[in-house]
Amino acid sequence: MRIGVIGTGYVGLVVGACLAETGNHVVCADIDKTKIKSLNKGRSPIYEPGLESLLNHNISGNRLSFTTDVGACVEHAEVVFIAVGTPPGEDGSADLKHVLAVAETIGKHLNDEKIIITKSTVPVGTAAKVRGTIERFSSQQFSVCSNPEFLKEGDAIEDFMKPDRIVIGIESDKVESTLEELYHPFVRSGNPILFMDIASAEITKYAANAMLAVRISFMNQIAALCEAAGADVDQVRKGVGSDSRIGPAFLHAGSGYGGSCFPKDVSALVHIGDELGIDMSIPRTAQEWNEYQKEVVLRKLSNELGDDLTGRKIAIWGLSFKPGTDDLREATSLSIIPKLIERGAQVIAHDPQAVELARKALPPEVGYATDEYSACKEADALLILTEWLQYRRPDLSRIKSLLKHPLIIDGRNLFNIARMEKHGFTYLSVGRRDVR
Ligand code: NAD
Repeated sequence: MRIGVIGTGYVGLVVGACLAETGNHVVCADIDKTKIKSLNKGRSPIYEPGLESLLNHNISGNRLSFTTDVGACVEHAEVVFIAVGTPPGEDGSADLKHVLAVAETIGKHLNDEKIIITKSTVPVGTAAKVRGTIERFSSQQFSVCSNPEFLKEGDAIEDFMKPDRIVIGIESDKVESTLEELYHPFVRSGNPILFMDIASAEITKYAANAMLAVRISFMNQIAALCEAAGADVDQVRKGVGSDSRIGPAFLHAGSGYGGSCFPKDVSALVHIGDELGIDMSIPRTAQEWNEYQKEVVLRKLSNELGDDLTGRKIAIWGLSFKPGTDDLREATSLSIIPKLIERGAQVIAHDPQAVELARKALPPEVGYATDEYSACKEADALLILTEWLQYRRPDLSRIKSLLKHPLIIDGRNLFNIARMEKHGFTYLSVGRRDVR
């Protein structure tokens, strides 16, 4: 099938590469010339495990190409995916300017009857706006679908190749067989393609992300309760998560969720509720608690060293919003590090992938270490913000000998309490007893 993918971010690139991998002829378009230049040299502009080799495999097989000519991409395709960003507007609603700009381009280049699929996460009613915009520029027949994407950064290719389900909102049955054919290679093990009406598909994506955000904030609130009661949130998590009605995923306490999806999608859902007269109080509270939770590490540090950090050196492990990605959007590091600098601290950070982007996003005073151990040298405390695998079993004796004070504040509960006790650290984690 001839496929066009508009927007070559985390979602568009994965969609394009995976659809090319199953034999389709895919053209990906983006208005960002630097990204397209890099992609045309076979280099992925983002860090996502396995993506660059998948891109190159399909570029060399002549199934995948990249262009800044969005109109040409539309003209090439039988099926066009819109995968541009939907950032939060000032009031928390999803800003549709990129989606509707693409719809306008599609309208101007609709040279045949095509299927237009919204992959971007968009509020209920967007498909109708996309249709209306295209119709202003074209009298050609076309179909509009809503096909939200559920991939996770860090596991994006696996998630796209083996989805739990594929959700497709459609206007009529006309497009079902084409989309079944397109997605068949990804559901051979029997996972469902769920065809539904468009409004339900649009809401499904927000409901799924908000459900996960609520689980995280709920467990973070339980962690605060555990600290107050002298209980251990890890024990509670195991006890709760073993219930087959609840399950173990997304129950880890920590220093809050970030990323390009949960914060903005929860805000957008609350805003959709406001527009439709439904008070979305549960996701709104989850979001508020998350803002508070993001600073848990900072509060613990203030309790130990005071608010004035002049002359203190603070080591940071982890800048990206989660392991396996260089994405810094809404990362805890972006909330914490500027406040450390404001309070007079010298900050030395380490991250396996996100340093290049962090240099642009964080204050210029931040220093970067080439490995996790050198970040700790002469530091008054080590703060752990991202649970990268390489941080999970470090040489604790070496860390202790490098730190000026053996203080570790762990926003991701990486270490065993008894082990930290044995090594003589002051070790403060989330929802578990302090080690001193
Ligand atoms: P991104 O910011 O990484 O990429 C978006 C791309 O769209 C950019 O490269 C930008 O240059 C391009 N773009 C913007 N306007 C354009 C235009 N008019 N024409 C062509 N290209 C244009 O975004 P992302 O993280 O890939 O997310 C895209 C959408 O998918 C969002 O709605 C997001 O909520 C949703 N989503 C993201 C994830 C994720 O994990 N990142 C997962 C599921 C769904």
